[in-house]
Amino acid sequence: MAHLLEGKNLYKTYREKAKVTQALSDVSFYLDRGEILGIVGESGSGKSTLLKAIAGMLKLDQGSVLYNGKDFTGMTPRQTGAFLQMIFQDANSSFDPRRVMKKSIMESGRGKKDEGRILELVSLVGLEEDLLSRKPSSLSGGQCQRMAIARAFYSDADILLCDEMTSALDVTTQAQVVELLQDLKKDGRLSAVFVSHDIALVSMLCDRIMVMKDGTCVEEGDTLTVIKHPCVDYTKELLESARRQSIQEISE
Ligand code: ADP
Ligand code: MG
Repeated sequence: MAHLLEGKNLYKTYREKAKVTQALSDVSFYLDRGEILGIVGESGSGKSTLLKAIAGMLKLDQGSVLYNGKDFTGMTPRQTGAFLQMIFQDANSSFDPRRVMKKSIMESGRGKKDEGRILELVSLVGLEEDLLSRKPSSLSGGQCQRMAIARAFYSDADILLCDEMTSALDVTTQAQVVELLQDLKKDGRLSAVFVSHDIALVSMLCDRIMVMKDGTCVEEGDTLTVIKHPCVDYTKELLESARRQSIQEISE
């Protein structure tokens, strides 16, 4: 059986004047149905580039992406939107600036017109429903991120690509979103690639973890194994610094 989503030997270089950044270098991964793949790694390790490349928002130098075994390399975000939804770190720019929120969310449902469900989701992410009649420019970054989460859940997309999706949320809303993710996962209805710097959250939600550093995958395995018995020093340091961070937060 083919994997639900697969990336094979992905390469991406950014060129800005004299500066060349190898953002992805021979990265391969897979995601099976009903599974959440966590991606961790320090800032600049290529996590967002990987998600954008999958969604068709940037052109890969080399490599291929497959959905149920079918190659969709080079598809536009509009085309990939038929089977995957991305929740961006920078959510404002992911909405059509001319459209009010409700329209954008409705559109992601591809023909489905369930206003009740939209209201339910908007309340779940902690927003007032009157914000649905606003355009992205009149919402804050955090509000847009919440709207993007509501849109992704409304879409019933086969695959969610989540880039630091809980970073702008308050603790209560974060707990609600995580609960929704866990419920969907329990029903086997959620397949997602989950990028986060929050190792505790990743350990709780993800079945497998991939660790990225400088555009490469340095370690990959099931969550417990990676957390309990990391193979490489980089992962050990990442876990250690996450632990220090959470101890610091508790003592603050
Ligand atoms: P992460 O999400 O893990 O923080 P990114 O994928 O955003 O990492 O970035 C990987 C590397 O590519 C970084 O060195 C970053 O500075 C660089 N980069 C990201 N986007 C661009 C861009 N549009 N143009 C040039 N360099 C970029
Ligand atoms: Mg990023």
